[in-house]
Amino acid sequence: MQTRRQRITELLEEIEHPLTVTEICQILEIPQRSLVTEDLKHIAKSVQNDGKQLVARTPTCGKCQFEFKGRRSVKKPSRCPKCKSEWILPPSFIIVEQ
Ligand SMILES: [Zn+2]
Repeated sequence: MQTRRQRITELLEEIEHPLTVTEICQILEIPQRSLVTEDLKHIAKSVQNDGKQLVARTPTCGKCQFEFKGRRSVKKPSRCPKCKSEWILPPSFIIVEQ
């Protein structure tokens, strides 16, 4: 029996394109996004021991393409600082070999 964290790790190692937290929830049938957000923080550290890296694609404003670079949080920002749009394309995640 795998833990939820192991299932997320395996999923993100096998996929070819980064997945958002919402997509991870749907694929693994996890009821709460906050669980996945929390797991990703731990996975980011644990995969480093295997010489791998959890890569987060930068969240981007859907309206003006502003990129939320330099954010350390895995949560998605609520509003674009440039154009004030609330249409934010959420961050997405994938595990790659280093
Ligand atoms: Zn914007």
